[in-house]
Amino acid sequence: MIATADSAEKTIISYNPATGEEVGRVRISSAEDVQKAVTLSRAASREWRQTSFAARRDLMMRAREVILAEVDEIAHLILRESGKPFGEAIAMEIAPVLDLMQYFARNTEKLLKPAKIGIGLYALMGRSSKIIYQPLGVVGIIPAWNYPFSIPLGEAVMALMAGNTVVIKPSELTPLVGVKIRDIFEKAGFPQNAVQVVTGDGSTGAALVEAAPDKIMFTGSVATGKKIAAAAAKNLTSVVLELGGKDPMIVFADANLELAARAAVWGAFCNSGQSCSSVERLYVQESVAAELTRKIVEKTKRLKQGFGDREDVSVGAMSSERQIKIVEDHVEDFRASGAKIEIGGRRNPEFEGLFYEPTVITNANNDMRAMQEETFGPTLPIATFSTEEEAIRLANDSEFGLTASVWTRDRAKGERVARQIEAGSVCINEVLYTHGIGQTPWGGFKNSGLGRTHGREGLMELVQPQHIHINKLALLPDAWWMPYSATAVETFRGFATKFASGSLLKTTTLMPQLLKRIRELLKR
Ligand code: NAD
Repeated sequence: MIATADSAEKTIISYNPATGEEVGRVRISSAEDVQKAVTLSRAASREWRQTSFAARRDLMMRAREVILAEVDEIAHLILRESGKPFGEAIAMEIAPVLDLMQYFARNTEKLLKPAKIGIGLYALMGRSSKIIYQPLGVVGIIPAWNYPFSIPLGEAVMALMAGNTVVIKPSELTPLVGVKIRDIFEKAGFPQNAVQVVTGDGSTGAALVEAAPDKIMFTGSVATGKKIAAAAAKNLTSVVLELGGKDPMIVFADANLELAARAAVWGAFCNSGQSCSSVERLYVQESVAAELTRKIVEKTKRLKQGFGDREDVSVGAMSSERQIKIVEDHVEDFRASGAKIEIGGRRNPEFEGLFYEPTVITNANNDMRAMQEETFGPTLPIATFSTEEEAIRLANDSEFGLTASVWTRDRAKGERVARQIEAGSVCINEVLYTHGIGQTPWGGFKNSGLGRTHGREGLMELVQPQHIHINKLALLPDAWWMPYSATAVETFRGFATKFASGSLLKTTTLMPQLLKRIRELLKR
């Protein structure tokens, strides 16, 4: 929420969505503040890029130590700003990002090792090529609120290890977690301005894009992603967009139904369903639909909902009134279009905060609006299919393509189906958690995004390849240099027909013509 504190300064007040209590407040950075941060970041990047990988690794490992010393405090801050359970803050945010930190601290040098490139017949002419990976400069990070610690921190870690400096604009719903990220790097001893945080709402995010950093790493909605891509294009700033999802889970009759039911419950309801890779559509083969649904409903009944600081709570509060209204609208759409609410389907009457009950819905189908739009809440709509082809068709019938899961005991079938699903990550007998594997690329097909975070592919988004080409002989002019002549044109024809064939044998027959041309050049 945005309020005016004192008389002049615009302030964001961060509230605990479970209790409505104020967590703290931060000022809204002006466009000038943001521009200044980017300028300072650029200056800091000139020195930071010169540091060795070993020096960066040591600092990053120190930042890990800072986090480890404050795990409980950080988890409490996350739960107070987001409403999620304490355990989930540790399991789904702190632990995975600690793993990502050690991985990139130890492996970025190897992942960015200069690569020698085979250049075919040019090598026989005494040339060689290698690719080195230069930092970009300043990376602007604009995250969503749902994983306010792990997503921006993970991106910052990778950007820093690659030699960039970063400016983070946390979500207006979780600004204090953003400030905490800056404090961690500061405590670890990172150089001044290597990591800056500017707090504010969408207008502060827009100011960061306007300030022309060298890359924007954005996580959020499709609508904002498109705005950012358009604004970034004005400065030719490249963007990585991590956007929404409507992720399908396909359960075949031969699956381990007990495991699939547990996975569906966790996949749909963890973080109150506010994960980009939440299970938002479950397709089950008709013959086992009743059994799977019964298991899912039973397990959902046993979930305890409540304040995140209680250790036995599995489902916390939602993040905002806006978000809970979307869930209400979608559940209403399901009801009105003939689906059946098996359990849940309402705000939890025990609480005044933003608690929506975990909701299982049957008789859903893809014609329902709520099966097409991202819900981002604790709903699990179930639809049925009869054949493998139908399951694939239903899963792909979406504008989104972030993740998907396939459940079967037949691994060959699992992989066959996975390869046909239009999604950036597809799990077989697993669900949702692969964002937590920092070693693997993360990103979406279709409207779920552009580019990748995590893994080597994600690291490549944070560097620019530079080709270093050497002519080790450098004694004679190249045959294609000026001045041109009839002999030149004849030689170029030979290049097209012989050299460009890639065949050494054919190219050898070009030698007399080539020597003629070189002699001609040497005379002029
Ligand atoms: P959002 O698009 O409303 O906001 C995201 C961020 O963008 C916030 O920090 C916001 O202040 C900022 N912003 C808003 N307008 C801006 C503008 N014009 N210019 C620059 N910045 C601007 O999204 P949200 O509600 O915070 O997040 C929910 C969405 O995030 C869901 O769709 C979810 O699927 C998606 N998400 C995706 C991933 C992924 O990895 N693909 C991960 C988490 C969340």
